[in-house]
Amino acid sequence: MSDYLEKIKSQIPNLQAYAGKYADPIEGEYVVYTGPGQLKVPDRLVVGYIEGDGTGPEVAYAAIKVANAAVEKAYGKARRVLWYEVLVGSKAEKLLGSRLPDQSVEVLKKVRVFLKAPLETPVGGGFRSLNVTLRQIFDLYANIRPVKYFPGLPSPLKNPEKVDLVIFRENTEDVYMGIEWPWNAPEAAKLRDFLRRELKVNIRDDAGIGIKPISKFGTQRIARLALKFAIENKRRSVTIMHKGNIQKYTEGAFRDWAYELARTEFRDHVVLEEELPQYGGKVPPGKVLVNDRIADNMLQQLLTRTGEYDVILAPNLNGDYVSDEAAGLVGGLGVAPGIDVGDWGMMAEPVHGTAPKYTGKNYVNPTATILALELLFRFIGWREAADMILKGVSKTYEAGYFTGDLARQMTEEERKVVKEVLGTQEFAEKVAEIIKTEL
Ligand code: NAP
Repeated sequence: MSDYLEKIKSQIPNLQAYAGKYADPIEGEYVVYTGPGQLKVPDRLVVGYIEGDGTGPEVAYAAIKVANAAVEKAYGKARRVLWYEVLVGSKAEKLLGSRLPDQSVEVLKKVRVFLKAPLETPVGGGFRSLNVTLRQIFDLYANIRPVKYFPGLPSPLKNPEKVDLVIFRENTEDVYMGIEWPWNAPEAAKLRDFLRRELKVNIRDDAGIGIKPISKFGTQRIARLALKFAIENKRRSVTIMHKGNIQKYTEGAFRDWAYELARTEFRDHVVLEEELPQYGGKVPPGKVLVNDRIADNMLQQLLTRTGEYDVILAPNLNGDYVSDEAAGLVGGLGVAPGIDVGDWGMMAEPVHGTAPKYTGKNYVNPTATILALELLFRFIGWREAADMILKGVSKTYEAGYFTGDLARQMTEEERKVVKEVLGTQEFAEKVAEIIKTEL
């Protein structure tokens, strides 16, 4: 590890970095799940962190500094996080002989709530994505990505300030289950034959075959999370994004099961679009509107009627498309955070990868990782700390401080608001300073 990183780490007091073997955290307690999605969060909380590869450690420690400032500002000495390092990725391979050692999985199972900085997936060699493996181990079925515009960021939209979305993408089903065969595989031939013989469906002999399962169970558990989030955070609407006009029994069913859940479990808190005439076409105060839109139409409306969208609930593939489109509206990968949530754990992460060419250069934007920790706090119920982070980042951009990736996308006109272009650590320190002194 470079001196540069050692110096950053030494400035963070509540860090338990890996030092040769796993030891119980020196202070703090683990979060306790008392039931599915039911957390008991101690005031001295242990949060795991995976440093990541490439530029991962730079953004991880930058984000931890900001999160510490937010917790201190929000709760004084009443609450504190102990950041507990868990080895995964190339550092784990070097020190423990595997990219995902069993010991690390055991520690993550105790910690349950953790930050994951980006991990490299080496090309070739049949190496499985650690990100996918981690999601499966903890059954993290919801990939949640907020996309919010901060004043000053470069955007292709005329009114980017209207972008304030939270996308709930189903993370375990759909075509991502990988149930597919090339056209010339014996399995594909068997399936074509079965379809012709038993179901009278004609498929060309040179067609590859993929299967798209979407279940009621899978749909309703993520719909539950999205609706709960919308109600607790006083959002305006939840839009179910689907292609149900064509894929009736998968995406159409996704829509129907999500509506059914809204009607049965959240009746007092929601109004469905079809019910609006009863209320004079307006959403009654305090209720969340639940509507649905067909995916292709929605992707273009996000550009032309941006302000109409708020929380978006989507099956896996639609969620993938819409979250990247949305990130492009507000400055790109450097500012796009995510969190993977399940009933028994959660993993916060920036959407971007390891950006290896910038390793050690103090260049990359830490905002995505900072906002990933904002999400982590929001989902464990530390809302005040989460709000501090959001306000801190927003005020930093408003005050004219940017990182190179953003400054470089700006037009001459947009650049007029830039006071200073900062490196990774200096940007995070500026956010922390603004949280401490201006909020
Ligand atoms: P990437 O690491 O996301 O980087 C692609 C480009 O995006 C960078 O070269 C840079 O663009 C820009 N970028 C990414 N993060 C940035 C940040 N924080 N600030 C500013 N600019 C940023 O994607 P990749 O090069 O395809 O993948 C590299 C490695 O990361 C691979 O091993 C891949 O498997 C892994 N990966 C991991 C995750 C994860 O852990 N969740 C996700 C994606 C990829 P410019 O070159 O234009 O400056």
